[in-house]
Amino acid sequence: MRAGLIAQGAVLPIIGWFVFMIGYNNVQDYQTTLGVIGRYLSSEAQQKYQMYQLMEAGGGILALVGLVLVAAGLVGHEKHTSKTVKRRVIARGGQRAVRCPVCGCALDITTQSEGKCPECKTPIEVVYEG
Ligand SMILES: [Zn+2]
Repeated sequence: MRAGLIAQGAVLPIIGWFVFMIGYNNVQDYQTTLGVIGRYLSSEAQQKYQMYQLMEAGGGILALVGLVLVAAGLVGHEKHTSKTVKRRVIARGGQRAVRCPVCGCALDITTQSEGKCPECKTPIEVVYEG
């Protein structure tokens, strides 16, 4: 669900950007002296001009909404993964026990070198130093 939201959010600004650029480039063309005369003389040109203005505005909004979705998705994703990240505990040479960084209980590193704290269930990774 969350990954799908991010994927959708990533596609929206790309589509939005393309639509915006097509609209923007054509609106620029229609705003030249020749374009203004063309719109004055042809109602079809005037309709196209309005359509490109819509594309410019709609594409811009689509790109912005997509970017907001991506940002929201990434923030949510980060919050989600930070809970499951392993807590590193540094054990110096000759040390047999370390303190759990979350609840402070003693962990026997000869048996608890990899895995969870028996008290608070926090995933622990013991890093040996020295
Ligand atoms: Zn603990």
